[in-house]
Amino acid sequence: MSYRLANRAGEAVLLDGADFWAMGMDPMDALADVDDLHRLWANRGLPDGQLSPAELGPPVPNPQQVFGYGLNYRDHIEEIDRVDPMGRTASEAPVVFTKFPTCLVGPSAPVKLVGEHCDYECELVAVIGIETRAVDEAQAWDRVAGLMIGQDISDRALQTAASPPQFSLGKSRESFGPIGPALVSPDLVENPDDLAISCEVNGDLRQNSRTSFLMRPVAEMVAYLSSILTLHPGDLIFTGTPGGVGHAQGVYLKPGDVIRSEIEGLGAMDNPCV
Ligand code: ZN
Repeated sequence: MSYRLANRAGEAVLLDGADFWAMGMDPMDALADVDDLHRLWANRGLPDGQLSPAELGPPVPNPQQVFGYGLNYRDHIEEIDRVDPMGRTASEAPVVFTKFPTCLVGPSAPVKLVGEHCDYECELVAVIGIETRAVDEAQAWDRVAGLMIGQDISDRALQTAASPPQFSLGKSRESFGPIGPALVSPDLVENPDDLAISCEVNGDLRQNSRTSFLMRPVAEMVAYLSSILTLHPGDLIFTGTPGGVGHAQGVYLKPGDVIRSEIEGLGAMDNPCV
């Protein structure tokens, strides 16, 4: 099933390059029927027009649940343990937190920094397409509507202000969840388990990895979560960030910075910091 679904000023559109096809409905309603999305994509005909990236909102504006996997790339575990030595290793059970959905914004939205310790985390985001409960890994990809880029912006000071750390608040400030530019069905990328992922700040390459280095790949994450709770269409899974975050170098985001996030086959997002 193929489609690229985006959000143009609150309305679902199919997006191919700059060309768009208006669907006349809310993006969440569009996502609730992926078979229909596929049918519309296959028969899309002449586009309704062209749009600029600045018009795009979050492809999934109101998910019921947003999960974040922490410490899912080995080089990120190692760099965090250098800054704050705790002997971290790949944990037996996954480290999972919530990003509250109110933090989600579009692919070119400004990131509103608070304090001196805000940081970037470029991540692959998997979007659930069908209600899912207790699937095994072999079935898991069939439950994924698509993939997109996400920034798990993190206020490190807030995140570590309490003990144990409160990831969920530190990663949920207003505008701390840029996603986009479009939700891309998994068949439209060459290998959904092996995509180049990178992040630049002001043109300076900070993160550069491949999603094949995910210690818990997408299918395992979906299977694990679905063993505990029911996943709903539109639920997001931020899959973790590779090494190279600012926190590991003591360098944080500042107003005027531009964060460029890129994943092979999914496009790029440019988010200015204010
Ligand atoms: Zn993260």
